[in-house]
Amino acid sequence: MHHAHSDEGEDPHSPLVTFLWGHMGWLFLRNHDLTHVSSYAKYARDTLQDPYYFWLERRPVAPLLIYAAQIIPYFAIAFLAAMSAGEAFEGAAMFGASVVIWGVFARTVLVWHITWSVNSLTHMFGYRNHATEENSRNNWLVALVAAGEGWHNNHHQDPSACSVQHRWWEFDLTYWEVRALAWMGIARDITPLRSERVKRASNARRDPGVA
Ligand SMILES: [Zn+2]
Repeated sequence: MHHAHSDEGEDPHSPLVTFLWGHMGWLFLRNHDLTHVSSYAKYARDTLQDPYYFWLERRPVAPLLIYAAQIIPYFAIAFLAAMSAGEAFEGAAMFGASVVIWGVFARTVLVWHITWSVNSLTHMFGYRNHATEENSRNNWLVALVAAGEGWHNNHHQDPSACSVQHRWWEFDLTYWEVRALAWMGIARDITPLRSERVKRASNARRDPGVA
């Protein structure tokens, strides 16, 4: 929906309304356009065809439980490490609780803001490689903290491509992670950049025998 109506009235999170609205304000209001089943059918059909995501969508408590489960290893590893370093039970328990607060809760809030920066900062600050029809920008700071997602003007110019690396210095860590997953046999059908897709299509037209 953001891509279909970028920085226009129907964009669910344009920062051109206000920075705070695009960053996080839009999440605090119920928007029926987003939760209606027809929106899912139109904008997220492929996601709901994946049994895991469909399962999550049907059971909103499940993500909460999956999230809460990480508290156990965070606490246990910190607690055992402190105990083995000679700490008393109470001190080790406090250290475990401290690691949970910083490693789970504070980390989650930080990552929320990093994710939201892709909606807010990269539609306000940065440079443009492509004269796209919205205000998307390439922002090096967001690219650094969001593992490449800050090259957002590149993403808007070619949203279906896996990589957002259009110039040699625009390093897209996420893309190389996907390539590593493909190398391990976990990821497949990686969509290349548009230039490569055009090249493949014209090769296929010239020589229909070669895919
Ligand atoms: Zn955008």
